[in-house]
Amino acid sequence: MFWDSRKVYNEIVQSIDEALGKLKHSKFRSSFRLNEKDREYIKEKGRDVIENHARDFVKQKLADGDPLNDGKQTPMRGHPIFKAMHGTACCCRGCLNKWYKVPRHTPLTEMQQEKIVRLLMAWIDEQMKEETDE
Ligand SMILES: [Zn+2]
Repeated sequence: MFWDSRKVYNEIVQSIDEALGKLKHSKFRSSFRLNEKDREYIKEKGRDVIENHARDFVKQKLADGDPLNDGKQTPMRGHPIFKAMHGTACCCRGCLNKWYKVPRHTPLTEMQQEKIVRLLMAWIDEQMKEETDE
């Protein structure tokens, strides 16, 4: 599963695909989408910078065992990564627990944080790809 550590890279990628597939069945989760402004921001900054932002937000908002205002710490807009966090159910420890069985009240390991970052970026990549399909 997505959260088991020591998986080889391929398995992580596959489980990210699984996670994205499940999220598509949620009306609420799939309602989060990048708009034109978000896409421009991502193109302007570049993927690496956005990934660093993702890493910072995960650390700030999720890494603590009991983050401040848990459940309300992630705005609905203002940065493409915020949308990615809601779109992937990585917005708070409650959702991480519900969707991915991540134990609450326990700090996230570096590995767990990195997996969240990968999932967020996979969501971003998918949204950016969709631009040409529309
Ligand atoms: Zn949440």
